[in-house]
Amino acid sequence: MKKPKILILGAGYGGMMTATRLSKELSYNEAEITLVNKHNYHYQTTWLHEPAAGTLHHDRTRILIDDVLDTNKIKFIKDTVAKINKDDKTVTLANNGELSYDYLVIGLGSEPETFGIPGVKEHAFAIRSVNSVRQIREHIEYMFANYNNEEVKSEDYLTFIVAGAGFTGIEFVGELTERVPELCEEFDIDRSKVRIINVEASPTALPGFDSELVEYAVDLLESRGVEFKTNTPIKECTPDGVILADGTEIKSKTVIWTTGVRGNSLIEESGFEAMRGRVKVDPDLRAPGHDNVFIIGDCALIINEEINRPYPPTAQIAIQQAYTCTHNLKALITGSELKAFKPEIKGTVASLGGDEAVGVVGKKKLYGTSASAMKKVIDNRYLYLLGGIPLVLKKGKLKLF
Ligand code: FAD
Ligand code: NAD
Repeated sequence: MKKPKILILGAGYGGMMTATRLSKELSYNEAEITLVNKHNYHYQTTWLHEPAAGTLHHDRTRILIDDVLDTNKIKFIKDTVAKINKDDKTVTLANNGELSYDYLVIGLGSEPETFGIPGVKEHAFAIRSVNSVRQIREHIEYMFANYNNEEVKSEDYLTFIVAGAGFTGIEFVGELTERVPELCEEFDIDRSKVRIINVEASPTALPGFDSELVEYAVDLLESRGVEFKTNTPIKECTPDGVILADGTEIKSKTVIWTTGVRGNSLIEESGFEAMRGRVKVDPDLRAPGHDNVFIIGDCALIINEEINRPYPPTAQIAIQQAYTCTHNLKALITGSELKAFKPEIKGTVASLGGDEAVGVVGKKKLYGTSASAMKKVIDNRYLYLLGGIPLVLKKGKLKLF
């Protein structure tokens, strides 16, 4: 009998974990499995704020795919997905023609949400991949170098605007407060010349998060020199900075855009019905009307029935979905029962740079070094799930305190 073909798109948290689980759950004879990813490495999106600020080398966040994947069981193709032809059950790649599938898993992640705000795509940076964060780190250093080489010193070089004080914005700002003193020393610049401005549309930073933890985070970051501008939507991004809703301009040569994400644009381009690029998947994670297509991670939309609002897209959910997706693919192939996906939210921890963080785990609130240690435990746990103890030892955050 012909082996069914499973095609996985994207080697992020969802795709990579589905691939490694399938290689354990299905035998070579049961399916032909292929994974396609833009790069020959998997990167940890959840760490990217660190190399973006320059507090961690980007190589720590990436893992060569064939170091953790059993490539005897799973074929890996390094290529960019150009189109998903769901009616023909094929996927067009940028360089390697077309691949056909019996079952498709889409785990292509997200893109920055610009809300159509003019100038964002052209003038702002986004924390989204190894390549994008390398560029941010280099740009920040270049700004420090430029400042000293201009005849008329422009403080715009030393003003760093972070748009959005959600989790990504706050985590990046935290890292930047750790990096700036090092850069000041390296480039002989007084710390008081550098401004880090975090602009947020909502009345508070980290909207919706526990108010005591938000207060702790904001107080700490302010004590390290961050200026928060809340209740302040940005309405335009220009080559010279940002323009706020009330028309005020803040001049800066560096705008980092962290106002949320939307699903990969291939989702809408391929004709799936979507909300901000995310498909409201059936309980078993299949796309409505497409019994052979699973969508997981940031491309999938799952409603939290308790509050009737979508769950925020997180790695935590993407990893859990990979387990359900693996179970359901195996069930389709072996003729057993599919199961519904139920997110089990264990908590949320946001790092604030150095040994500081805030978080809720279970019902417990964590602050400071204990929250920071918990964040490292979460990071190491993922590495353990993916590649066992060898991967934890190679890439993990072993110094907890
Ligand atoms: P990703 O992990 O983003 O992977 C998508 C993959 O698809 C990538 O490998 C990419 O290269 C590949 N790809 C994309 N397009 C193509 C294409 N056209 N062709 C081929 N390959 C392609 N969540 C948490 O739970 N906890 C956290 O602490 C946390 N911290 C975060 C910190 C930051 C700075 C950011 C930005 C996000 C954070 N998140 C966190 C959110 C989390 O990173 C995402 O929800 C998660 O990465 C989604 O996983 P995914 O598998 O859907 O996509
Ligand atoms: P987010 O939605 O969490 O935050 C975006 C912020 O930008 C919001 O506070 C919003 O009010 C603000 N905003 C929107 N438009 C604006 C404008 N025009 N001007 C100024 N502010 C504006 O998105 P994110 O921080 O990009 O995170 C993306 C996803 O990744 C989320 O689901 C988040 O939960 C997850 N994440 C989790 C962690 C963690 O668990 N530690 C860390 C980073 C990201």
